[in-house]
Amino acid sequence: MPKRTYGKEYGFQTRAVHTGNDVDIETGAIKRPITMANSYELPYDPTDVNWSSASGNLYTRNGGSNQKYLQEKLAALEGGEDCIVLASGVAALSGLFFALLESGDHVIFSSVTYIAVYRLLNELLNNKFHVETTIVDTSDLEAVRRAIRPNTKLIHIETPGNPTLTVSDIRAIADIAHENGSLLSVDNTFASPFNQRPIELGADFTVESLTKYINGHGDAMGGAIIGKTKYLDIIRAQSQVNLGGTISPFNAWLIMRGSVTLPLRMRQHNENALKVARWLEKQPSVSFVAYPGLESHKGYETAKKQMSPGFGGVLSFGLKADHDTHNRFVSHLKVITSAVSLGHDESLIVFLGENDERQYLYPDEFHNGFFRFSVGIEDAEDIIEDLRQALEKENLL
Ligand SMILES: *Cc1c(COP(=O)(O)O)cnc(C)c1O
Repeated sequence: MPKRTYGKEYGFQTRAVHTGNDVDIETGAIKRPITMANSYELPYDPTDVNWSSASGNLYTRNGGSNQKYLQEKLAALEGGEDCIVLASGVAALSGLFFALLESGDHVIFSSVTYIAVYRLLNELLNNKFHVETTIVDTSDLEAVRRAIRPNTKLIHIETPGNPTLTVSDIRAIADIAHENGSLLSVDNTFASPFNQRPIELGADFTVESLTKYINGHGDAMGGAIIGKTKYLDIIRAQSQVNLGGTISPFNAWLIMRGSVTLPLRMRQHNENALKVARWLEKQPSVSFVAYPGLESHKGYETAKKQMSPGFGGVLSFGLKADHDTHNRFVSHLKVITSAVSLGHDESLIVFLGENDERQYLYPDEFHNGFFRFSVGIEDAEDIIEDLRQALEKENLL
């Protein structure tokens, strides 16, 4: 059978189903198999083989079949030239940062990011490798402009940001970066490519955790970097082959399978999160709701420009209640599970208390403790009823 290719002439759903899959030549199976072998047969004379090469089939740390199939699909979904998948979202972030940044370089990053970004840039690369860092509220374009230095190599933003859902303008920041000879990377984990494609908006790199929406079932870890081949070749050689953050073939296969239903799941996440956000906003005991799809959200206009058809499944909210009441509220929930992570099929909630070390970087309403809530794909009515009965038990209705 000829190889079926599904490029951008096909819709997002068709690509989610087909890209990266093909008929297995040996068996005729219509799903490609999992190749768990970690080694591939060498040519007759192996002495010319480059043992650090990431092209060709050699050794699974240098690149395996299942990860290549997944890379093909993610590049197609994000609208990028090339993709690298690694063992986790953090492996993708560290892979990008280590490959691009040298001591003496300057990096600007969003004040609201996944915690590991803060640790990697502001602590590890800064303290150990003398990379200069500036933390900026990247929802403020003037602040981004002011932070630029002659040696600014990279701007890294997260939008919507974890955990405050702060929205930054991707296209405007890409312009600022490029006018100054810098590169822009965007963490797209919260939106997923179904709702937002940073490369189409001018970003140089999209980085994301596959552990979240792309896999969608909470049972595998992975991360991806999407961008131009000229950069990705360097990252692949350094981060995968020599730093060793390679994804397992089984996880790549699981994520490949989970990603088939990404569009269907995202539609449900978008719809449920908006319903839950609107309901929470009406409760007198709720102090604030942060969701980019609400007209009341500070980043709503920017989100509407760059996110479509929806705003994702994660929101944050606070209660007009003390610390213990927050914990008791969670203990009353029956449908929603108290756990970290997000983008699973099921609803997950986490109470982030009052003493987070980065609280000073968050808007005021986040200073008294708040919930990050990843709204799942259950019936919206059941999710809302679960929240209602838990509020009722604490006399918060
Ligand atoms: C979870 C997360 C990551 C890290 O991904 P892992 O797969 O857990 O390593 C990075 N960025 C964001 C926004 C995340 O939510």
